[in-house]
Amino acid sequence: MDYRVPRGTQDILPPASGRWQRAEGVARELLERFGYSEIRTPVFEMKELFLRTVGEETDIVQKEMYTFSDRKGRQFALRPEGTAPVIRSYVENSLWKDHPLLKLFYMGPMFRYDRPQRGRYRQFHQIGAEAVGSLNPAVDAEVISMVAMILRAAGIERVTVKLNSLGEAESRERYTRALQSYFGAVRSRLCGDCDKRLERNPLRVLDCKVPACRELAADIPPMEDYLSTKSGEHYEQVQARLKRLGVKFEKDKHLVRGLDYYTRTTFEFHHGELGASVALGGGGRYDRLVREIGGPDTPAIGFSLGTERVLLAAERDRRDAAGDAPCDRSMIYLAWIGEKAGEAAFLLANALRRAVRVELELESRSIKAQFRQAGKLGAGYVIVLGERELAEGRVQLKDMTTGEQRDFSLSALADFITKEMVGYRNDKSPHGRIDRNLGGQLDEALASLQF
Ligand code: AMP
Repeated sequence: MDYRVPRGTQDILPPASGRWQRAEGVARELLERFGYSEIRTPVFEMKELFLRTVGEETDIVQKEMYTFSDRKGRQFALRPEGTAPVIRSYVENSLWKDHPLLKLFYMGPMFRYDRPQRGRYRQFHQIGAEAVGSLNPAVDAEVISMVAMILRAAGIERVTVKLNSLGEAESRERYTRALQSYFGAVRSRLCGDCDKRLERNPLRVLDCKVPACRELAADIPPMEDYLSTKSGEHYEQVQARLKRLGVKFEKDKHLVRGLDYYTRTTFEFHHGELGASVALGGGGRYDRLVREIGGPDTPAIGFSLGTERVLLAAERDRRDAAGDAPCDRSMIYLAWIGEKAGEAAFLLANALRRAVRVELELESRSIKAQFRQAGKLGAGYVIVLGERELAEGRVQLKDMTTGEQRDFSLSALADFITKEMVGYRNDKSPHGRIDRNLGGQLDEALASLQF
């Protein structure tokens, strides 16, 4: 029996899981600052939803969906992407009623039967968002600059933004005909799939991965030349606003994205180290999708980032930016000497954990070994509790960044922790909110300790 993790999936183990939480934490924080709220949808949906929205001719639908039928023979699919489920929910719950512009974000696993390699998995994770209800190009620019901000906050420095416009239905129709005539002339050199795509959905030829098709696609006429006046203006405005926001971008006429629902603006984020075919994330407008699945005519735009890829890129950029990771200033290592001090430390740790993370020595090792362990764990502070401290009801606290050592009474310690450490956590950590108003509680808990 082979119980290994299924091909293309992975366990996310500590300490990597900590990096996941931090990346998701900064994204959540920024998304909330931009006015997005979280939506959680099921990991599986009716298969038909994705056929209709992502598109029958796309690789996702043709080759990559995990589908299954339940005991009643209903056809489902594990979600290969997040937008269709969010819009399904938007329509099902009539969410437009209370919100002219609804901003939703999501985080979670997606599933595609892809060929596993670095940065490509069968279960992968996305951080994504949708702004539903506005056609204003300001929203496009805001979404793109927000993603750039999220990537920077996640520790990624070297990002390229690619931009294109696919126009609305009318421009698209004209461009489709132009592509049919362009590729029609070299049809015999296209791959079998693209030969079929040429009739049904020629835009899909542009994201074919077969080298011969890529070569043929290199000299296509740019979509921009076929945009209607309205779509052309929209595209200009998005670019102008991005420039004003200081977001650098490159126009890319091949950027059609692998899903059918996009209209007008499309964009992708790339990182040099991951290679051109492995985007960090992308997105675009989808002004027809809400109506297509039964809602009112509502324009919308969204993006998604691949969390695995964000972490890979962040790891690269951090490695290149020299220096060790700083220690965690919201964490205390509680070291002790002597059995009685050990007993007191056990209680003290419990009290302090109301406010901060505490690692407690359990093995009664030498003080040197305990400091080594604190360093290994990256503790920002070490508290030392010995016989003398116990007798005086005081503790020594060493700041592991500066090396400074201070002597505290228990109530002064409570004060220091709530002011310096909890305050620090409130600024930096998504979990900080738990800790508000803990000063009094901590004081009380420490006062009740009998050393
Ligand atoms: P897409 O919906 O195809 O545009 O994908 C959006 C983002 O999800 C991509 O830019 C990747 O970061 C991520 N992604 C898509 N497919 C995979 C995969 N098989 N493995 C890892 N990440 C993926």
